[in-house]
Amino acid sequence: MNEMSSENLQSPDSLKPVNHDIGAGRGVFISTYGCQMNVNDSERMYSILEMSNFMPVESAEEASLIIINSCSVREKPVHKVYSEVGTYRELKKKNPDLLIGVGGCVGQQEKEKLIKTQPLIDFVFGTDAIDELPQTLQTLLGRQSKKEKVVNAQFHHREPYHVDTLVRNPGVSTFVNITKGCDNFCTFCVVPFTRGREKSRPFQHIMTDIHSLVKRGVKEVTLVGQNVNSYKSDCGIDFPDLLKKVALETGLERLRFTTSHPKDYNQKLMDVLALCQHKLCDYVHLPFQSGNTRILERMNRGYTREEYLEKIRQIKATIPNVVLSTDIIVGFPGETEEEFLDTVSMVKEVGFETIFAFKYSPRPFTKAARFEDQIDEVTKSRRLNHLFDVHNKLSFEWVKKYEGQTLQILVDKAEGENKLSGRSTQNKVTYFEGPESLVGQTVPVKIHKALPNVLRGVIEQ
Ligand code: SF4
Repeated sequence: MNEMSSENLQSPDSLKPVNHDIGAGRGVFISTYGCQMNVNDSERMYSILEMSNFMPVESAEEASLIIINSCSVREKPVHKVYSEVGTYRELKKKNPDLLIGVGGCVGQQEKEKLIKTQPLIDFVFGTDAIDELPQTLQTLLGRQSKKEKVVNAQFHHREPYHVDTLVRNPGVSTFVNITKGCDNFCTFCVVPFTRGREKSRPFQHIMTDIHSLVKRGVKEVTLVGQNVNSYKSDCGIDFPDLLKKVALETGLERLRFTTSHPKDYNQKLMDVLALCQHKLCDYVHLPFQSGNTRILERMNRGYTREEYLEKIRQIKATIPNVVLSTDIIVGFPGETEEEFLDTVSMVKEVGFETIFAFKYSPRPFTKAARFEDQIDEVTKSRRLNHLFDVHNKLSFEWVKKYEGQTLQILVDKAEGENKLSGRSTQNKVTYFEGPESLVGQTVPVKIHKALPNVLRGVIEQ
């Protein structure tokens, strides 16, 4: 195997110029797993590949280039990548020129191992190598033998972090990336190893991107990053400053952000939430991971149960109708039954309308993977089911409050004849009837049916 290893790859500036027709109209299909960062990255890949004359297609069967944009935050998605690659065996037999690549966190984490264990894969690229996709493909398309593979998974330590927002059809609502990577090293999390150390985009670049999205008709932006509230720009602007400027100076109707870390949720940020509430929506996603202080310490989260609850009290005082959601891990190494019940009581006490809860799974390179007191799968599953049971019952009750209320819905989609959907400021997906011409507008909708994940209503005349 003539492998171009990460060590041998040069920086994009010193790579050969790219032939802008390398795609020659070939179809590209990207299969995406994971978080909003990955959804955003896939959009970016499509845009970059379109510039090199690849044509996005709707299915793997139509493609000459398949990319799996993977996630390794949990164990299952890694297995998913392996099994998805297997499903392309027949396609590759029919079309030996079909190129298959794996990017995202699994690409970053597994690198050459993927190529060695999965001969169907032609190339692997890391989270810092998206912009170099044309060069990677140019190298592949010029190879002498199909046995030659390409691996480009080197971290770039260039500062500042440059990544223009490339979205093909931004629609009404889209994501804008503001940070990359993370320095927190929570003991369960692979992100610092797959996305690298934290970097922030220059402030002016973010503003320019958002101004141009507003001109293209975007009404709502979600600022994304692994840890947005530790944003620190080149010119001394921190996250609350950024939020205020974007909320007040860009003409956006709504602004959201995810994910934030409780330890960086400070008073300055609360003050901006209060000042810009008309734009900032009454929805906050704040992962707590565990309701028990001993486990939080072992997770290296940097806050106690009480400190987290104090932040929640401040948020509720700042945004009276705030809707809260969170991320939770159950079955972290050493978690006792009592400590798990602290997590359950936290869910009840705070009243999270939405929870994203997962069983702990050991990730490569992480400290917690080496802890000796791992919890067995049966216990983890039982705890997760219990948590969901408790939450489901409560959330059915909590959302009843929406019935009879009139919410302002930003219409983002026409879903068939006279059927519309959009989101409330609390981030509730809402379905109702109305003409397609309302897409992009904010309309008052009276809710008549509220379920935990969706609301149904009618436009109020
Ligand atoms: S804050 Fe912790 S959980 Fe979040 S990305 Fe960083 S290391 Fe991972």
